[in-house]
Amino acid sequence: MRTVIAGNWKMNKDRSQALQLLGHLAQAAAELPAGVEVFVAPAFPFLSLAVERLQGAPIAVAAQHCHEAVSGAYTGEVSAGMLASCGVKACIVGHSERRQYFGETDAAVHARIKAVLSVGITPIYCCGELRADREAGRHQEVVGAQVHEALTGLPGEAMAKLIVAYEPVWAIGTGLNATAAQAQEMHAFIRGRLRALAPEQAEGIPILYGGSCKPENAAELFAGPDVNGGLIGGASLDAGAFLELVRIAHRMKKPE
Ligand code: PEP
Repeated sequence: MRTVIAGNWKMNKDRSQALQLLGHLAQAAAELPAGVEVFVAPAFPFLSLAVERLQGAPIAVAAQHCHEAVSGAYTGEVSAGMLASCGVKACIVGHSERRQYFGETDAAVHARIKAVLSVGITPIYCCGELRADREAGRHQEVVGAQVHEALTGLPGEAMAKLIVAYEPVWAIGTGLNATAAQAQEMHAFIRGRLRALAPEQAEGIPILYGGSCKPENAAELFAGPDVNGGLIGGASLDAGAFLELVRIAHRMKKPE
């Protein structure tokens, strides 16, 4: 089974700090265990730099966002094609911070997934419920609706290219991770939804856990049969912690 660790740097690191982190990752890359797909997602200004510095390393570069249009009068935005032309291999779509602070809707997420796929790069599609949803017991209903809105209509061969990340919003950047049981339960639920949309591809789609995941809790979180790695925020800003997460994901990798 594919196993993935993706680091979302968010709006952190200036140029020299980004170079330093990329340097540490590039240096350690040769010792990384094979069999885990590793991505890092720096901010836009450093994407080309990251592609250059990680050349030859088994670490691919992802973007944190893109616009759904091919080109045009969208000041401040970046298209999926621009990312692909810089050597970017994946793009996070639908992160809860984009939904919360920038009004990203499920319809926009769907359009962006299609835009990303159309240029041959991998969407890392994020879904997850708010704390109030979980407290009210409607977390599966909310995540099920997100998955339905974002992915319905994608052909099977497009679904096969997807990475999904379950990120409970209450766990992101809070230090409060989901329990391993909560993560596995939701991942199995998402797998079921994927099965309904793409029966032939669903078992092969990696579903990552995200939300205060760090070396101290990763082995437990990654143990669930439907947990195929992690989308990592805070801990991806430290090379040592991030590389340790790759090693843990490798140990917890599910059989092919
Ligand atoms: C994220 O923002 O995708 C994330 C998982 O953040 P953190 O690991 O810091 O909770």
